[in-house]
Amino acid sequence: MAAPHFTYNLHTCQYEPVYLTGKRLLKKSAVFLTLALIISSATFSWYMNRFSPIEEQLQRKRNKALLAQWQALNNQVAGRQKTLTTLAEQDDHTYRVILDLPALSAGQRLAGAGGAEKNYPAEVRKYPLILESYKQIDRLKHQAEVEQQSFNQLSETATIKNTMWASRPAIQPVDNRELTRLHTTFGLRMHPIFNVLMDHKGLDFTAPKGAPVYATGDGRVSMAYFSGSYGNVIFIDHGFDYETRYAHLYKFNVTPGQFVKRGQLIGYVGNTGISVSPHLHYEVFYKGQAVNPIYFFQRDLSNLEYRKLIQTAGKSESSLD
Ligand SMILES: [Zn+2]
Repeated sequence: MAAPHFTYNLHTCQYEPVYLTGKRLLKKSAVFLTLALIISSATFSWYMNRFSPIEEQLQRKRNKALLAQWQALNNQVAGRQKTLTTLAEQDDHTYRVILDLPALSAGQRLAGAGGAEKNYPAEVRKYPLILESYKQIDRLKHQAEVEQQSFNQLSETATIKNTMWASRPAIQPVDNRELTRLHTTFGLRMHPIFNVLMDHKGLDFTAPKGAPVYATGDGRVSMAYFSGSYGNVIFIDHGFDYETRYAHLYKFNVTPGQFVKRGQLIGYVGNTGISVSPHLHYEVFYKGQAVNPIYFFQRDLSNLEYRKLIQTAGKSESSLD
């Protein structure tokens, strides 16, 4: 039997023991259990409101989606990085080699890449993975900027080289089909009229009077006039320190100041000035010095034409002026 508790009896004016009967015990237990159930339910309800498994599941799904997106972005960055690396290799080993430019050094490519960590927002610095992604994207941006500047330089150089290649004297001024003789005497030779040793600063192309004479490179006609020795002569300034002269012409097809393209008809073979027969006296100057024009015939001759040129040149070693 459970221990009694005492209660005051007003009729007997005494404290008397009260013993719990089975019925009273059952009643008290029921009250206790009810209270316990109410408190448990309230606690469970509060927990469910605050930490709902549904919210948790949704949050996990969101995290998973965010992770997948972050990985996809990382893959894209890695792909662009690979593309830029390939471009840089082509730049150094192909384009710069063709255009005779030095390859960019690692220092030039990395100069200014990446910033101090403190420059990134605090929210980014809290997460090392996100911070690394930011740094990787910044490196990519820098590499793309370097490559863009490099391609600008390549483009400018290609434009200059194109102009230079087009301007350089590189074809024969008289067509092989018109050519009957090529006098290859460049330098000291016996002058055909004065009969003394004199410097011959060009080549003589023998062709019929009126045969077309062509500009050997792009340039500007700086002079077209009659000279006592040259006869009717055209000077073309090609830029890049090159100049060509076409002498003893029958007549002109250009005027001073006119721009001409390589292969453009500029005049006709003649016998004006100091000359013994119709021919074109052709000179090439580089940096003010006469150079042998034969070294510049490289752009338009087939093997057959070159053989004919050599055979024609073999017919005579004297000059005609
Ligand atoms: Zn000559």
